[in-house]
Parts: sequence; C-alpha cells; structure tokens
Amino acid sequence: MHENTIAELALGLKNKDYSSEELTRACLDRIQALDGELNAFITVTGEAALAAARAADAQRARGEAGPLTGIPIAQKDIFCTRGVRSSCGSRMLDNFVSPYDATVVERFHQAGAVMLGKLNMDEFAMGSSNETSFYGPVKNPWDTGTVPGGSSGGSAAAVAARLAPGATGTDTGGSIRQPAAFCGITGLKPTYGRVSRWGMIAFASSLDQAGPMARTAEDCALMLQVMAGFDPRDSTSVDQPVPDYSATLGDSLEGLRIGLPKEFFGEGLDPEIARLVHAAVDEYRRLGATVKEVSLPHMHLSGPAYYVVAPAECSSNLARFDGVRYGYRCAEPKDLKDLYMRSRGEGFGAEVQRRILIGTYALSAGYYDAYYLKAQKIRRLISEDFRRAFEDVDVIMGPTSPSVAFRFGEKSADPIAMYLSDIYTIAVNLAGLPGMSIPVGFSNRLPVGMQIIGDYFAEERLLNVAHRYQQVTDWHRQAPAL
Ligand code: GLN
Repeated sequence: MHENTIAELALGLKNKDYSSEELTRACLDRIQALDGELNAFITVTGEAALAAARAADAQRARGEAGPLTGIPIAQKDIFCTRGVRSSCGSRMLDNFVSPYDATVVERFHQAGAVMLGKLNMDEFAMGSSNETSFYGPVKNPWDTGTVPGGSSGGSAAAVAARLAPGATGTDTGGSIRQPAAFCGITGLKPTYGRVSRWGMIAFASSLDQAGPMARTAEDCALMLQVMAGFDPRDSTSVDQPVPDYSATLGDSLEGLRIGLPKEFFGEGLDPEIARLVHAAVDEYRRLGATVKEVSLPHMHLSGPAYYVVAPAECSSNLARFDGVRYGYRCAEPKDLKDLYMRSRGEGFGAEVQRRILIGTYALSAGYYDAYYLKAQKIRRLISEDFRRAFEDVDVIMGPTSPSVAFRFGEKSADPIAMYLSDIYTIAVNLAGLPGMSIPVGFSNRLPVGMQIIGDYFAEERLLNVAHRYQQVTDWHRQAPAL
C-alpha cells in the first residue's frame, strides 16, 4: 500500500480493497520500522490515528465519505494540534500541548483525514537542513548521510520514505520547495493569504504560508482543496473562492508561455541541475509550451532583504516565549529578569537566537530606516519584477535550489552558505506568489527539483502544469531504497 499515492489510496478505500484502519496500521508499522533511523517524526499519535481511521471507516459505511476520508497524513510540528504536543522543533515548546487545533489541522479532521503524528522541522522553521531541530536532524531517505532540506525536512523525508502519503509543510523562504527538491517529492507554497495561518506558530508573519507536500501534483491538489479558503480568524486570509483544483489538472498546455529568468541560471548553480531543468523545459516544449528568457533584475537583493524582514518579524513574534505562561522555564529563577533571560537563553537554540538578535537590531531606533524600511522597499521592487515578467509569460521556471542535498555539517558552521540554499525561493515569498517544486531527475543519485512560479492565486495553473509533466515522466515515481 505504501507505494500508492493519495489518489490511488482514495480509490482503494472506495473500492474496499482495504479499510482506513488497515491502511493506517500499515503506515504506523512503516514508521515504526524506519523512523528510528530517519527521525522524521517528533510525535507519533498511533492510538488516536487508529481511532480516527475507524471513525473514517464508519463514515464511509454510512455513505458519507469525501476524497480524503480515511487517508493518513502527517502534520508539520509547527501546527497547533489539540491535546498533542506542538513543539515547533524547539526546546522552548517541548512541553507545550496545544489547547486547540490550527485551522489547517481542523480542516483535515473535518475532511476525515487521519493524522499519523507531528513532523520534525528546523527550530521555529529557521533553517534549510533540519539540523537546528531540538529533536535532532532528520535524515534524507535517499542518502542518510545527507540532509533532507528544511525547514519542512521531516515532512519531505516522511513522504519520500513512504511513511505517509502526504504531509503539510510551511514555507517562509523556501521551506516547502527546497526540502521537496532535496527529497524528490512535489510541494506547493500557495499565494500568501490562500491558506489560513491561524494556529500555525508564527515565524515571519508576512511571509509564512502553509502548503501540501506529497508525491504528485494530483495529490497536492487534493490536499490544497482541503487547506485553502477564507478564515475569519486570520486577518491576512483572502476571501476569494477556492477553485476545484482537481478539475483542471489535465488541461492542455498548448500555448503555455514559460519564462526562464536569466538570473536563475548564473553562477553558483550546479551545472547538472541546470541541465536537468533545461531538459524538463524541453519536455514542456513537446507538450506545446513556448519558452522565452525573462529578467528579474532585483533577484540578487532578495537574500539581503529577506534576512532583514524575516528576522525582524521573528524577533517580534518570538517575544511571547518568555517562560511565564507556557513553554520552557528555567530552573530556580532569581527574579523576573533572570527568568526571562535564562528561559530564553536555554529554551532557544543558536540559530533562533541569532535571528532574534539580528531582527531586534534591524528594528531598533536609528537602524529601522536603514534596514527594515529599505528591505521593504526592495520587497516592492522584487514584486514589480515579477509583475512585469507575468505580463509576458504564464509561469516562470528555474531550479528550486542551487545544489542537491548536502552532507550533515557541511553548511551548519556557516550561516551565509546555509542561507544561499534558498536563493531561488525567497523572492517568491517576498512577493507573496505561489511556487511549486517538482522532481525532474537525479544528480549524483540525489533528487533534483524544478521550481514553477505562478502569478497570484494561480495554484490551479501550477498544479495543471506540474501534473501534465508528471503524466509523461516518472521522476516522481522513483523511490529511495530503504
Ligand atoms: N531557510 C530559510 C530560513 O531559514 C527559510 C525557512 C522557511 O521557509 N521556513 O529562514
């Protein structure tokens, strides 16, 4: 069963080839067998999953099943889950059991999906390798000496290793797309505002967006259908109708206009990745697309702008973790100040502290105009670049990340080298656009991802474009030997 996609499993459940309880048990057995090594899960909720599976089977027996009824999925541990530890990969929240469900989690429950557990991630979603997690690194199932990417590395590894057919991720600067690329799966970061952020532990609120991670675009469409939509509890949620993402998957790509930004193919890109991306673009030509070069002239400023905006917002968001009401508290504080200082000093890891310091600095009086305001202006220029490009093309394609999965420790001592892992993804967050990563081949036996960027609310188009490619190729069907 574990080789099947969500769409295939939904059919199997419908045809009564197996029950959700059997399917869920098979996933739990596989987690038990393989996750000791991979470390993709922080918490496995086996008993609750089996109970939910039995409820889904009963729902189906009553004739009330929807497309995801009885399908096991796993949630990134950044989402609050009622009665279940919601750690965000941090010692700070190691003891935090959420009293409520995030909107995304609630919607999966309402759709009858079965939650297998909570997935490992970089601490507070800050990282590109999963090495900053309090719960230890996740291993890439393609080569356990390499990182799975981050911050949704647990999600990507769990899906790639067939521990779960689908998982949620979040993407502030690339955290769905880059791990999807490193682990050879399909991931979609929706338009900012498409999916509710309510109950999703905040990193950088103007950039954070949740999305689906699965093996195929078809499965991402099924998951996004459940996740997307207006939520009055999130003030940045956009009240716009949700299309039927599965309905247009098979649409013809005849006449599709693809833009290749020249800035995406410059120095620093692994030549084998460039070759595979061009080969995938050729496949699109055969499907009827036309290709032209475009330019995003402010691309090179996206890293510097992101590493001001994201830390600034994180320094504000993470101010709430003070050891007073919930979360980690240091032992025997002398006074209130000591409580704050030691709780935060001991509860947060090095990368999180680095971001808080940078952000606090960038927002302080005298520096605000020089850094934060300037970064916001760059952000506008980057959005304008994309707006101009989308006057001539329907989608933009390029590499997801400049390299394939790197080895543990290779970049962890050098924050700048680590940050470069996201040079092709962060501009998309700064502009609030939707972006996907799909598998397009292997370099050195490690998966390579291609990024597809669309205009605002073009998720339907992205899924269609990805699906048509997956109908004529089988990179997304390759599985790691485990
Ligand atoms: N790697 C980037 C960072 O560390 C992006 C993380 C993310 O998208 N959550 O900020």
